[in-house]
Amino acid sequence: MTERTKRKLADGREDDVGKNHGLRKICACARRNWTKCPHSWHFSYRWQERDYRFSIDRHLRRRVESKSEAEAEAERIRVAIRAGQFGLEVPEPEPVERVPVGTTFKELADIWIARERTGRGRMEANEQARTKALAAIELLPGRLLGAKLIDAVCEDDLETAIRQIRERGFAASTLNHYIQTLRSMQRWALRKGHRNWIAGA
Ligand SMILES: [Zn+2]
Repeated sequence: MTERTKRKLADGREDDVGKNHGLRKICACARRNWTKCPHSWHFSYRWQERDYRFSIDRHLRRRVESKSEAEAEAERIRVAIRAGQFGLEVPEPEPVERVPVGTTFKELADIWIARERTGRGRMEANEQARTKALAAIELLPGRLLGAKLIDAVCEDDLETAIRQIRERGFAASTLNHYIQTLRSMQRWALRKGHRNWIAGA
C-alpha cells in the first residue's frame, strides 16, 4: 500500500506518482483507518521540479469519500498538470434551481419558505403568516395577489398589498416586517432567475 508508484508515460518520460498513489491523509487517524475515516484525501505530486499538494475535497469543492474515487480524481489532476492545464479548469458553476415558469406568487412564497426558512422556528412561522396574508390581498375585486403569476407581479401590486396591510392598523414595526418579507422574497426570486419580477426592487 505504501510502495512508490513509478511508471513510464506514453512519451517515454518517467512519472513518479509517489507513495500510496500520491494520496494520503493529514489527520490523527492510523493509516490503516484512512479508507474509513471521514477526513479528506490529500493529493501530493511532483512534476518538473514543482510540488502540488492540496486537499482533494477542497480542490474539487465536494466530498470524495472512497479511496478508489480519490485515486481516479488524482489521476485526472496529474494528467492536467502534465498537460500544463492545471489551474486552468473553470469550476462548474453551482447548479441553479430555477423556479418553473407559471409559478404564482403564493407558490413562490411556499417554495421560498420551504427552501430558505424551514427549521428557523418562529421566523418560519412568521414568514408563513405574512406571505399567507399577502397572498390573500385582493389587488382588484376577485383578483388575489397569491394567484397572480410571479413574472406578472409588478411593484404597483406590492404597493397595493402593503397599503391594504397598513389600513388594518398594524404598528409601524409590523408593517415593516411585511415589507422585509417581500424584499427577501424578491431578492431570492431574482437570484433564482425571475428577472422580470419587480424591476424596481
Ligand atoms: Zn482521519
